Amino acid sequence: MKVPFGDLSRQYKVYKKEFDTIISGVLEKGNFILGENLSRFETNFAGYLGAKYGVGVGSGTEALHLALVACGIGMGDEVITVANTAVPTISAIDFAGATPVFVDIEENSYLINPDLIESRITSRTKAIIPVHLYGNPCNMDKIISIAKKYNLKVIEDCAQAHGAEYKGKKAGTFGDLGAFSFYPSKNLGANGDAGMIVTNNGELAEKVRLLRNYGFEDRYKSIMRGFNSRLDEIQAALLDFKLTKLDEWNLRRKQIAKRYISELSGLPIILPSYLPENTHVFHLFVIRVAQRDKFMKFLLNEGISTIIHYPIPIYLQPAYKFLGCKKEDLPVIEKILEEILSIPIYPELEDAEVDYVIAVIKKFYN
Ligand SMILES: *Cc1c(COP(=O)(O)O)cnc(C)c1O
Repeated sequence: MKVPFGDLSRQYKVYKKEFDTIISGVLEKGNFILGENLSRFETNFAGYLGAKYGVGVGSGTEALHLALVACGIGMGDEVITVANTAVPTISAIDFAGATPVFVDIEENSYLINPDLIESRITSRTKAIIPVHLYGNPCNMDKIISIAKKYNLKVIEDCAQAHGAEYKGKKAGTFGDLGAFSFYPSKNLGANGDAGMIVTNNGELAEKVRLLRNYGFEDRYKSIMRGFNSRLDEIQAALLDFKLTKLDEWNLRRKQIAKRYISELSGLPIILPSYLPENTHVFHLFVIRVAQRDKFMKFLLNEGISTIIHYPIPIYLQPAYKFLGCKKEDLPVIEKILEEILSIPIYPELEDAEVDYVIAVIKKFYN
């Protein structure tokens, strides 16, 4: 059996009729940018999360970038985040002109360790970007209380956490702004690039609205230095339909995770762990094993693809060496770096495939 790490064509096989109708509908209308499909999706996605405003942008990276700019964060400012995130979190901070400052992670959750944040705050610190990595929300109570104490903005990186909850509230609604990516493989994915910023702050929402479209208040009248970062009508229409399936898809991910956890416990594998008050949406199922290369090769030989998220932490990326971050400051990331890997988890994964992954892993330890 072959189990791919992901297979985005499976979604189309299920919803071919719906997707085709949606796409041709937009093509026939002939309105492709900033139209009714985007407005509707912005309202529906913000409503789904329980946020007041949603503003569609070009990607998750742009959502983070414009969120920072809307908060007035740029040159000379420091933004606290983690080094085991995807590169785009850091690109966004860097392109806003600010400097990322790394805090180590918790060993059980792989998320930012809130107890270490205060030690990295300086007079230049302006914001915290907690990353709800792998679909598991960060400890937002602690993060928000530190942010209040030091008057910092909180921009949540929700690229992997559509529908995830902390204490019954959706990720993306705790900070000043929540930044979402709809990159195709995310829990809610477009058929191209797309992103969104959500917020309860009308002033920030309005700023992002201007920033994403040249600062245009009216046609051809620019009142703020802006840029072009828009979510197009075809993607918006597809996403608005897919949003109605998100809970069902997340439920399927959770079912698969539950099965992995119950079947793989007892083996010498460290399984994902998360707070009981969290609803983890399992964008990724990340495990830790001792002989990772051997483990990955064994699975691949049996037809199962696995991936490491992420093999190179930011402080080891050639492009970000200039930040001068020392690995001695991030011992937990260093510790887990050689052990983590992600096994297949996505809504379209069949029960037989899940069973097969479990059987092959058990065989490895036999
Ligand atoms: C995917 C991702 C992003 C970037 O999203 P794009 O839409 O690809 O720009 C940012 N942060 C994290 C944690 C991600 O996983």
